[in-house]
Amino acid sequence: MAIFRSILPLILVLVTTLLVSCGGAVAKAPPTYTPAKLQVIQAYAIPVKEAKEKFSTLQNFIENEDWVDTRSFIHGPLGGLRKEMSTLSRSLLPDDQKQAEQLSKEIFAHFEKLDAAAQEQDLGAVVGQFKAASKDLDSFLDLIPAA
Ligand code: ZN
Repeated sequence: MAIFRSILPLILVLVTTLLVSCGGAVAKAPPTYTPAKLQVIQAYAIPVKEAKEKFSTLQNFIENEDWVDTRSFIHGPLGGLRKEMSTLSRSLLPDDQKQAEQLSKEIFAHFEKLDAAAQEQDLGAVVGQFKAASKDLDSFLDLIPAA
């Protein structure tokens, strides 16, 4: 009985694990977007697509080595992007959501480095971070389902 009592918690853990894994394995239809959900996503995608268009303005500032405007542009016109991307990410299917959140994290890490490089007036580093952020934002937008 003492032995049983000592292994009981282990058995419970095993049973729980089995139940959880079986529950997950029950063949559910893969999740898909409903038309209503797609409409919401399209609406959430608008400011993110607009932000992508604003990248060309940022690129101009960078090419002109206009560091003051480069830095204020990231914090100003692109300042709301993080929130907009996270709202959009949360409305995606689980797998896409994970990727979208990862890409968002990367983009803002690039922005932080871009900001620091602009402060140092390091054109090469700024351009590198800008290109990386731009590429990541394209990958992010690729995750958005078509209407
Ligand atoms: Zn990246």
